[in-house]
Amino acid sequence: MSEKLIYLDNAATTRVSKAVADKMADAMTVGFYNPSALYARAVDISTDIRRMRSDISSALHAPDGELYFTSGGTEANNTALFCTRKPKGSRIIVGMGEHDSVFAPANELKAQGYDVQFAPINTNGTVDVAEFEKLLNDKVSLVSIMHASNETGGINDIGALVRLVRRVSPNAIFHSDGVQAVCKIPVNVRSLGVDLYSMSAHKFHGPKGIGALFVKKGTSIKPLLYGGGQEKGMRSGTESYPSIVGFAEAMRNGVASNLENNYSKMSQYREYLLQKLATEIDDIAVITNMNNFVPNVLTVAFKDVRGEVLLHSLEKHGILVGIGSACSSHHESRFKSLLGLDARHKDGIVRFSMSEENDISEVDFVVEKIKQELAVLTKFRRV
Ligand code: PLP
Repeated sequence: MSEKLIYLDNAATTRVSKAVADKMADAMTVGFYNPSALYARAVDISTDIRRMRSDISSALHAPDGELYFTSGGTEANNTALFCTRKPKGSRIIVGMGEHDSVFAPANELKAQGYDVQFAPINTNGTVDVAEFEKLLNDKVSLVSIMHASNETGGINDIGALVRLVRRVSPNAIFHSDGVQAVCKIPVNVRSLGVDLYSMSAHKFHGPKGIGALFVKKGTSIKPLLYGGGQEKGMRSGTESYPSIVGFAEAMRNGVASNLENNYSKMSQYREYLLQKLATEIDDIAVITNMNNFVPNVLTVAFKDVRGEVLLHSLEKHGILVGIGSACSSHHESRFKSLLGLDARHKDGIVRFSMSEENDISEVDFVVEKIKQELAVLTKFRRV
């Protein structure tokens, strides 16, 4: 096993940054008080949580007091789908390419008797707007469309989709899963016009197990967890102060100071990687086109090879890549069949996902190793 590590699976998760880990360690050992306790030290923790909630909100242009901490993206998405109040049997529209933490709740709501419709996607993983429009009627109570795709990095024009929905069904609730968008592109929940927006800290160098759901004031939603009344009664349970500290610090590093720099660094990396792959490797299918995509994802399909076989071959050289949604890699990605790839490419999908920790000097080595491994793996598969 190679000692060198080139980590290109940042859409699955990222390394917790040193600054985040240090602050969290302090929060655990010094700021360990229960934020609901009455003595001053605990009140300070509670005040600090309020401040961080407000900082995260303003990074997303969300008004103060409309952000609820969750255990991550999955919980935020489940809350959006299950806890919103919807007339029995009403129509729910969900993108065909949504993450399983939206897709599986949608199937459950279907089993409960809702009229759940899945909006088809284009070959770049974003919703087909014309097909989406056909699904709208005045019985739509909830729509859930992701901001950026975890499989391709494609960005949906959420603002335009919200406007289409409002025209036909003004009271419908619009949720967007922003897990792959936050800290990758500027996010302004107010101008997007969404009612609900999910995020997860471990996608941008924060800790796992913490995320948030933005809930616009006036949205009809009930609590997920009942108990001590934390999170304004939306989600009871002692707040995870260290996780919130880590979330806020990661967000501060990702959005407040570095979004533009990181964007251009990751875009340059992606462009160079694509250029090298396209010129040096025979006949790849590029799934991520270069317009309207988050800067950190490049998904391509190699010919005559299985993505997971190539993944393991690259691992021997210390190169870690993804083959799509890590959270569902134990079963065949539903996504694969939607991309319209031919028989020789359809099993060869590989997702390279960068963070600002990657350096463009890695690319030559990565492409050289891909070439080397493909030469062996495809030797006997050529027809
Ligand atoms: N939504 C998207 C688009 C994701 O990519 C992920 C994780 O891969 C999730 C939701 C789930 O987030 P979490 O791991 O915080 O539960």
